[in-house]
Amino acid sequence: MADLDAEQRGIAQTIATRLWNSRWLLAAGVVAVVVVYALAGISAYVVLAALLLLLAAATLPAVGTGQSAESGAAIEAIGLQRLSGEYLAAAVADPLIIFDRTATIVHANAAAFAAFGGIAPGMSLSLKFRAPEMQALLDGVLSGDLASDVVDYTEKLPVERAYRVSASSVGHATDLYVLVFKDQSEARRIDRMRADFIANASHELRTPLASIAGFIETLRGPARNDPAARDQFLQIMQSQTGRMARLIDDLLSLSRLEMKPYLKPGTEVDLRETVDSVIDSLGPLARENSVAIERDYADGPLDVPGDRDELFQVFENLLENACKYGQSGGRVVVSIARSDAGSESGIDVTIRDFGPGIPEEHIPRITERFYRVDVETSRTQKGTGLGLSIVKHILTRHNARLSIKSEVGQGAAFSVHLPTH
Ligand code: ADP
Repeated sequence: MADLDAEQRGIAQTIATRLWNSRWLLAAGVVAVVVVYALAGISAYVVLAALLLLLAAATLPAVGTGQSAESGAAIEAIGLQRLSGEYLAAAVADPLIIFDRTATIVHANAAAFAAFGGIAPGMSLSLKFRAPEMQALLDGVLSGDLASDVVDYTEKLPVERAYRVSASSVGHATDLYVLVFKDQSEARRIDRMRADFIANASHELRTPLASIAGFIETLRGPARNDPAARDQFLQIMQSQTGRMARLIDDLLSLSRLEMKPYLKPGTEVDLRETVDSVIDSLGPLARENSVAIERDYADGPLDVPGDRDELFQVFENLLENACKYGQSGGRVVVSIARSDAGSESGIDVTIRDFGPGIPEEHIPRITERFYRVDVETSRTQKGTGLGLSIVKHILTRHNARLSIKSEVGQGAAFSVHLPTH
């Protein structure tokens, strides 16, 4: 019913516009018919018929090739005139508010109602948005000094949201104005994350650099002629450069992963072979830490779609952590099992250690970049704080899941679920 009304209103509007556009032609026609009627004395019926014909011609859509730019625009606009402003506003995904010259809300779309609870037609915009930047924006367009303007505005409640708000005059003698809110919160969050990441990475690099610089100074000064001190300092400097190199390697790994958009489809990885070679490559570290690595693999083929080098890096990081942080447990169990729980069928690779475990409150954050349960332990274990975030990144690319279970004093189990298709 409402649709029908709106349609009828649209048609009426179109006809009115056509009549208005042909007003001069119509007036001339009426004058001509009246003059002929007065001078030639023709019948009143003929005059009436001529007037009706004129009216019908004026309401018909204009055709022909010699149209002016103005009439071309009018024809183009005819389709739009049937479109109500309400529908147009509803089709806009961003919050949109239409207001009049007294800054009173005339209409708001559903996105605006959802974003700014408590707005309604008839409400004053200046009362709803009291922030000085919003007042200045409204004043600017309402005074007519600017046809449109943009400001950044932050809505504090119920949750903080940053918007770029543009206000513009609809013009065409409507006396209406439009406010559109573009949500910038996600872009800001990413900017903040990037800035934090750069600050963290710089800090991680600066610490060993400062230590190396300090030792160089000592070696050139007080320890110039002390061979024992020189040996000791050079050894520390070497371990610090090693730390910087590991950090740069991990940073490059992360950035390479971010640059690679999608995983190349079609390659299968033999998990048994991959995990075996990870265990072989970490043999020296396990022996150094007196950790025995036990295997518990399911029978049969254990293949999943994926990138072998990337999955190698995942298991290498997890096994290395188990050997380093779970060292006190003396053993690590690596198991590969099929999990066929409905549509989620895949293969689980679990690396379990029997060390101190991870307190519950740290588990949700442990895959964040540079997050460590204990910074000193990580440093002495040559950690960078980036290992698990690399793991998470690679697993996301594989549509895989990482679950971490741990009980303090009992050890930790890192389980990777890889889908088989
Ligand atoms: P790092 O380079 O410091 O090892 P990771 O991202 O690999 O960085 O790990 C983050 C932190 O998670 C580590 O610093 C450590 O505190 C904790 N962690 C990881 N694996 C284990 C584990 N098996 N047992 C106890 N703590 C662990």
